[in-house]
Amino acid sequence: MTKLHLITYGCQMNEYDSERVAGLLQAQRYELTEHESDADVILLNTCAIREKAEEKVFSKLGQLRGLKARNPRLIVGVMGCMAQLQQAAIVKRAPVVDLVFGSPAIARVGELLDRVRADGRAVVETGEGPLVKIAARPRSEPRLKAFVTVMEGCEKHCTFCVVPRTRGRERSHPPGAILAEVRGLVAEGCREVTLLGQTVNAYGRDLTPPTDLPALLEQIDEIDGLERIRFTTSNPYNLTRRLIRAIRDIPKVVEYLHLPLQSGSNDVLARMNRGYTRERYLDLVAELRDAVPAVALSTDLIVGFPGETEADFEATLAMVERVGYDNVFAFRFSPRPGTPAADMADQIPAEVKARRNTRLLDVTTRVAAARSRRLEGRTVDVLVDGTSKKNGGELSGRTRCNRVVNFDGQGRVSIGQLGWVRITEALPHSLRGTLASQPEDAACLSK
Ligand code: SF4
Repeated sequence: MTKLHLITYGCQMNEYDSERVAGLLQAQRYELTEHESDADVILLNTCAIREKAEEKVFSKLGQLRGLKARNPRLIVGVMGCMAQLQQAAIVKRAPVVDLVFGSPAIARVGELLDRVRADGRAVVETGEGPLVKIAARPRSEPRLKAFVTVMEGCEKHCTFCVVPRTRGRERSHPPGAILAEVRGLVAEGCREVTLLGQTVNAYGRDLTPPTDLPALLEQIDEIDGLERIRFTTSNPYNLTRRLIRAIRDIPKVVEYLHLPLQSGSNDVLARMNRGYTRERYLDLVAELRDAVPAVALSTDLIVGFPGETEADFEATLAMVERVGYDNVFAFRFSPRPGTPAADMADQIPAEVKARRNTRLLDVTTRVAAARSRRLEGRTVDVLVDGTSKKNGGELSGRTRCNRVVNFDGQGRVSIGQLGWVRITEALPHSLRGTLASQPEDAACLSK
């Protein structure tokens, strides 16, 4: 058996791709090892969204030089967005690397590793390829929750983003392949799926005949044994009335939406090429809250985009207050080579980005805490997925609106089950609750 060690950086899409690679190679007599020192093959699945993420990978590759010196037969591979973006330049900067391959080549990972062994020199495979639905998964304990990629790529061309270059144009998997994958997961014990796509709410328009995300959600909803459906990432530009109705009407679709705003300033949004204004975004939120009052919203925000003035930044803070996000992922702008924003005038100094980031975190923490407190006294359904990190005697799970809840299961609920929990206390990063016999109201469950 050949031993494989996988290191995954970045987003959920990368986690999903790493699972595919593990599953494919296990079928070819590889076995997973948690220890890089035991491995015959080490694969790094990389992210290129920020410079820091890339530097982390090069630093790891530097560390692997010692391992390779002790074991010259060790194969080191780099896959994912950074592989697609930097291609052969990775081998030039880090000669420890034997294999570089992009996501279109994942289905051929076994063959590429064989080629490295046969050629005795680095292999770089980063061309375009057909979209293939790979159902392979690593043999492991049955999982309650799983990611399912429904589409790849993006055609939005936001001026700060490398994704259109790393993941290519939008390509959707046919509904039949997705349904088969979800049915397989449910048969193995999965209760919640998260549908993944860079612009997941553009799903299906490239298919023949065309379809859309609401139609896919309806079909997945019919799968017996599945409890919850999430999807991410939605672009405000593609948030349709039909999708809002789907969130309201399809029982298994949760009341939670990740809707990246990126900036609260119309000037900055225009320079980002986001395709919406703050007014349009607020209209969408109003429509969503009107249809699904309990919906929880999370977002991505970039601080220090080129030319961002104090007034632009204040407009972002004002949007956080006004929308009332449950969760915010804030990022300091990181210029990515080859993107229009990297060459824009008025790049913001690092200390200004740091100061704005700290202020933004203060506001988002306060707003999220207020949202949490609204759940105190409510009874919510919790999908129990483990034990509490701080107290192994307690259960832990998530609400439909994606909040972590810790509570005493009293031996009446166990991992994998849904339990009704009355929220007694909102803490900074989680909720505490007590087991309830039945729902007294319908927080996070407005259907
Ligand atoms: S929509 Fe998202 S993935 Fe597509 S270019 Fe914009 S930020 Fe990147």
